[in-house]
Amino acid sequence: MRLKTKLTLGIGFLFLVIVVFGVFGIISIHRLRNDADRVLKNNYETLVYNNNMLKALERLPEDSLAFTLFENNLTLQEKNVTEPGEKESTLAVRQYFERVRINRNDTVALIGIRENIQLINDLNQEAILNKNQNARESAESAATWMTIIFTVLALIAFTLVVNFPGVISNPIRQLSAGISAIANKNYSKRIHLSQQDEFGDLANAFNSMAEKLDEYEHSNIARIRFEKSRIEAVINNMRDAIIGFDEKKQVLFMNSVAESLIGLREKDIVGKYAPDLALHNDLMRTLLQDTPRKELEIFADGKKSYFVNERIEVRNDEERIGEVIVLRNITPFHELDEAKTNFIATVSHELKTPISSIKMSASLLDDARIGMMNKEQQELLHSIQDDADRLLKITSELLNMSQVETGNIQLKIQTAPAESIIRQAVQAVQFQAQQKQVSIKTDIAASLPEVMADTEKTSWVLINFLTNAIRYAPEASVIEVSASRKKDKVSFAVRDHGIGIDEKYLPRIFDRYYKVPGNYEKSGTGLGLAISREFIEAQGGNIWVESAIGDGSRFGFDFPAIT
Ligand code: ADP
Repeated sequence: MRLKTKLTLGIGFLFLVIVVFGVFGIISIHRLRNDADRVLKNNYETLVYNNNMLKALERLPEDSLAFTLFENNLTLQEKNVTEPGEKESTLAVRQYFERVRINRNDTVALIGIRENIQLINDLNQEAILNKNQNARESAESAATWMTIIFTVLALIAFTLVVNFPGVISNPIRQLSAGISAIANKNYSKRIHLSQQDEFGDLANAFNSMAEKLDEYEHSNIARIRFEKSRIEAVINNMRDAIIGFDEKKQVLFMNSVAESLIGLREKDIVGKYAPDLALHNDLMRTLLQDTPRKELEIFADGKKSYFVNERIEVRNDEERIGEVIVLRNITPFHELDEAKTNFIATVSHELKTPISSIKMSASLLDDARIGMMNKEQQELLHSIQDDADRLLKITSELLNMSQVETGNIQLKIQTAPAESIIRQAVQAVQFQAQQKQVSIKTDIAASLPEVMADTEKTSWVLINFLTNAIRYAPEASVIEVSASRKKDKVSFAVRDHGIGIDEKYLPRIFDRYYKVPGNYEKSGTGLGLAISREFIEAQGGNIWVESAIGDGSRFGFDFPAIT
């Protein structure tokens, strides 16, 4: 039965109880009052009239007013005949009274009047007693019925009061327990209500919702498990080492490559605090250091491998929830690079001798003692000489670079005055400068301390700066070469007033094979500045550049001063 119907029936029943009880009570009270009224009207009044008639009868012979009083009460009595036998007696009283009216001393009639009045009185008294008895009986029966009805209704109402709240509260309790279970992710919870009402519908809806959530949860878990296994499979099959940490730097996972490189087993270190592990593990320590991308040389599994260290932050909505360190295996690139360097070194070395002999042959041809050449021949010969020079410069740069790359820079470090290094470099580019009518101004600060340097390689760097400066400076301009003291350092610089370099290219200017994009000289290799940096840093100095478009450039390096 529907809850609405139950409520309607319950409340309807109570309403009916009130109506029935009320109607029954009203009817009973009415009936009792009518009985009392009837007694009063039918019998009591008769007694009063009879009493009045008897009083009038006492005074009848002498008091003529008594006739009127008698007549009035008799008339009222005649209108109030209610009991069986009362009519005949009343009629007899009338007849005897008419005789007394004619003969006041008619004793028989007077006696007849008295007897009949007495009879009427008796009849009415008996009727009063009977009616009283009837009224008592109907009051008792009404009281009995009311008690019975009251008891039955009270029992029903009591049953309702005891059971009805449960009809509502029990399903609500079960439903709220079910909702709490769902809130606690217990999606297997079901509500079993046998009733077919609104609560039954609610329980069915709840059960189907819980079933859907259960299905969703299981499919989600299955999907998450699948994703996890897939990611684990991908991570474990990578050639790069991968280690994951949570936001508290505790190890979350590590793939097999990382295990063999670091020399620790994943199951032994998961959940451990990484800095604690780093205390006893060099590689872990290196990985945890916040150093920018750096090449690492690692000897593992009987061979040397090369890795670059990359840190990837794991974020969830702006919040940092962990970190993944990837050791990218660059060994194959390294091997290729090595092969390339060896190839370049061999080729450059092999080219040097034939180019030198081309140069020598060209200068012999240029000698007038061997024979005179016409103007065109001389121009061709000079172009051969220029190209041979350029080739020799390129091969020597490539050779230097391969030395740098293989870590084979041979340094002859000695104390050297800045002046001699600068002089050597300026002399080497003098001819080139003259050809472009560029003048080189040297500015060497007085009483400069000496520096510890490889004179040859340092002046090679200055020559490279000067060659570039001459190349990119306008004709007939001035190039300044300076050496000055900067605190505890000696600073060398070459300043030109050429085209300058855009600020955005400056960070990469010392990279290998890097040439500033644009309408610049095409002939260079992009190696000069990279070799310069390696030469200067190998000697403990640092190289720098200041430049702006249209304002020329200032390339330089600093060496620690000998104090
Ligand atoms: P390259 O042999 O090509 O000159 P470098 O390493 O010496 O190689 O120079 C790299 C690049 O830097 C050049 O290609 C050039 O674009 C730029 N560069 C070097 N020096 C200057 C300078 N003084 N003025 C303007 N650009 C320069």
